[in-house]
Amino acid sequence: MTRIEAEIRIKELRDILWENSRKYYVDNAPSMSDYDYDQLMRELEDLEGQYPELVSPDSPTQKVGSDLKEDGEKNDFVQRPHQFPMLSLGNTYSIAEVEEFADRAVRTLEQGFSYSCELKFDGTAISLTYTDGVLTRALTRGDGVVGDDVTRNVKYISNIPQKLKGSGFPHEFEIRGEILMPYESFDKLNEQRVRDEDQPFANPRNAASGSLKLQDPKEVGKRGLCCTLYHIPAQCADFPTHTAAMEAAASWGLPVSDRSRLCRDIREIEDYIAYWDVERKNLPFATDGIVIKINEIDYQKTLGYTAKFPRWAVAYKFKAEQALTRLVSIDYQVGRTGAVTPVANLEPVHLSGTMVRRATLNNADQMALLDIHVGDYVYVEKGGEIIPKITAVEPARRPADAQLPVFPAFCPDCGARLEKAEDEAKWFCPAQDKCPTQIKGRILHFLGRKAMNVLAGDATVDQMFDKGLVKTPADLYDITKVELLQLDGWKDRSADRFLESLRKSVEVPFSRVLFALGIRHVGETTAKALAAHFGDIDKIAAASVEELVAIPDVGAIVAKSIYDYFRMPEHIDEIERLKAHGLQFTMEAKKASSDCLAGMTVVISGNFSISRDEMKHLIEDNGGKNSGSVSKKTSYLLAGTKPGPEKIKKAEDLGVRIISEDEFMAMLPSAEPVFIEQDLFGGLI
Ligand code: NAD
Repeated sequence: MTRIEAEIRIKELRDILWENSRKYYVDNAPSMSDYDYDQLMRELEDLEGQYPELVSPDSPTQKVGSDLKEDGEKNDFVQRPHQFPMLSLGNTYSIAEVEEFADRAVRTLEQGFSYSCELKFDGTAISLTYTDGVLTRALTRGDGVVGDDVTRNVKYISNIPQKLKGSGFPHEFEIRGEILMPYESFDKLNEQRVRDEDQPFANPRNAASGSLKLQDPKEVGKRGLCCTLYHIPAQCADFPTHTAAMEAAASWGLPVSDRSRLCRDIREIEDYIAYWDVERKNLPFATDGIVIKINEIDYQKTLGYTAKFPRWAVAYKFKAEQALTRLVSIDYQVGRTGAVTPVANLEPVHLSGTMVRRATLNNADQMALLDIHVGDYVYVEKGGEIIPKITAVEPARRPADAQLPVFPAFCPDCGARLEKAEDEAKWFCPAQDKCPTQIKGRILHFLGRKAMNVLAGDATVDQMFDKGLVKTPADLYDITKVELLQLDGWKDRSADRFLESLRKSVEVPFSRVLFALGIRHVGETTAKALAAHFGDIDKIAAASVEELVAIPDVGAIVAKSIYDYFRMPEHIDEIERLKAHGLQFTMEAKKASSDCLAGMTVVISGNFSISRDEMKHLIEDNGGKNSGSVSKKTSYLLAGTKPGPEKIKKAEDLGVRIISEDEFMAMLPSAEPVFIEQDLFGGLI
C-alpha cells in the first residue's frame, strides 16, 4: 500500500470507527459485531504503526469511545470531570498475544509478581465515589476525562451500597466497575419492549448502558441492573496489591466478583481462560472475555499507561458465540411496510444465555449466498442485532433429502404477486391497502406508544379489523362505544378507556403524528427533523425531492419515499380525515414567557441543545436573572455538555444546586421541548 493509499484508508477507517462508536456508546444500538469493529481498529492501528506521522490525537486508536452526547445535543445529565482518567483496556482475540503480554511482563518486571485473572464483565463502566463511607458520586466513563453524573440513578441499583460497612476505608475514595443487566432482566425488558413496539436492545451491554441513562431513577430501579466492582485507582488508597484492594472492598460490603483467580504464570492464565470460555455460558450475566492484570501496585506504576489503556493489563476477548443447529423450515413474514423476510425455524439451541428457536435470513440474496437448504446444519450467531442470524452452513453435514428453498412469488398473506425494486434487497407485497398484515401492522404502528400512544394491542386490532371496523387509522376515530361493546370480552370500562385514550391522542405533537402515519423510511428522528424544518404537513406534502434531501437525516431513498407518499390521493384523504378529527398537523408554537424563575439567579455553563444566547433569553423570559459567575447568591448552575470545571467546583463548594438542561426545562411551564421529552422519550434513553 502506498502512503497516499494508506492515508485514504486511515481516514476511511477513522470515519467508520467513530460512526460505529457513536452507535454503540451513545445510541446503544450497534450495527456491527464487536469482533468486526475490533478487526477494523486493529487494521487502523497497524496502518498508523507503519506511518507514525499519520497518527493524530483524535484518532480512535488514541481515545476511548465516548458515551457523551455531543455539543449542542440534549443531555439529561450534568457532566463532571474524573479525578483520574477512565481508560479502556488493550484487547486481543489471540492467546499468542496474551503470551506476549506475559513475556513482556517477565522481561520488564524481573520477578516476584503475579497476575490477577478476572472475568471481563460486559456492561457499562461506572466510577463510584465514597466519602466517609457514603456514596456521594457516580460517573459514567464518558470520554474518559468527563463523565455523566448518574448518582441519582445508581442509588436505585440494589447491590450498590449507599453506606459502607466495617472500617478502615479511606476518607474519600473511588472504586470502578461495571453496571450489568443479567440475562433474566434483559429478556424481560426486551419482551416488554417488543410489546410496546420499541426497538429491543441488541444485547445486555447496550440495555445496561441505556437503562443507566434513563431520566427517571425509579425506572432505573425497575430494570433489574446490578453492579460488580473491579478497580480502586492506586492514587485513592494504599494497597500493596490489586487483590488486597478487592478483598478490602468486599469487606466494606461492596460487590466484588468471587470468580477472580491469582495466577503465577502463563500456564495458569491459559487454564483460567480455557475454563471460563466454557463455564461463562452458565453465568447469569454476559461476559466478553478475561482481564489479566499485574497484581502488584508498584509494578503497575512501573508499567504505567498509554493514552488509551494501562500497560499493566490486557483483555483477552472471546469471539461471538456461535451455535450449530438444524434448520427445520423457513417462514416468510410480511411486515407493516410489506417487506417479506425469510425467518428460519431451528431446532432449539442454547446461545449466549438464551434459547434460540428462530433466526433471520434477511432476504433472498442472503439465502442464495449461504446456499442454504432446509435440513442443513447451520451456524447461528448473535452479532450487533438482537435477532440471531445464520452466518454459515455446514455443507459436510447436509442430509441427502435437504431441500433448496424457493422464495415465494406471491404474498403469503394476501396472495398478491411480490415485487422487488432494483436497488432493494427485499421483496415487497405491493397490495398495501388490501394485505391484512400490512393494514393491521400500520394501525398497530399508529397506535404505538411512541406514535399516538393509544391503549390497544395486537388482539384489539385483530378484532377491529376482522369485524370490519377499521381499515385505516382514521377509522379508529369513527368507532362508537356500541361497536366496541360488540367485540369479544369488551366491557363498559375497557371501551371507555380506549375512547378516552383516543381522545387524548389528538394532543400528541405533530412530529409523532407524522411518525405514526407510517411513511416508509420515516422513523422518529426523520419525523422530528421534518416537523422541525417544515412546521406543517401541507408544506411537507408540497416539498420537492430536492427540498427533502436538503434536510439532515433525509437521504435520496427517504426523500423519494416521502414524496411518493404524498402523491397518492388515498393518503391525502386519510390526512384530511385525521385533521377533521383534530390531530396535530402543525408544530406547536413555543409557549410564551412566565415568571416562574422570578427572584432566581441562574448561571449557565457548557453547551445546550439551543444556543447559549437562546438559553439566556429563556431564563430572562421566565423572570430569572442570568449571571456570568457562581456566587452564594446563585440559585442554580445550569450545566450543559462540557461545563467549566471551575464553575462546577465553585458551585459544589458553595452548595449551589447544579441542574441539567432537562431539569431546567422541566421547571418551565410546558414549553414544547418538555412535552416532546416526556412523551416521546418517557422511560427511554
Ligand atoms: P472494552 O469493553 O473492550 O474493555 C475495557 C472495559 O472493560 C473497561 O473500560 C471496563 O469497563 C470493562 N471491564 C469489564 N470487566 C473488567 C475487569 N474485570 N477489569 C477491568 N475492566 C473491566 O473496551 P471499551 O473501551 O469499553 O470498548 C471498546 C470495545 O467496545 C471495542 O473493543 C469493541 O469490542 C466494542 N465496540 C463495539 C462497537 C460496535 O459497533 N460493535 C463500537 C464501539 C466499540
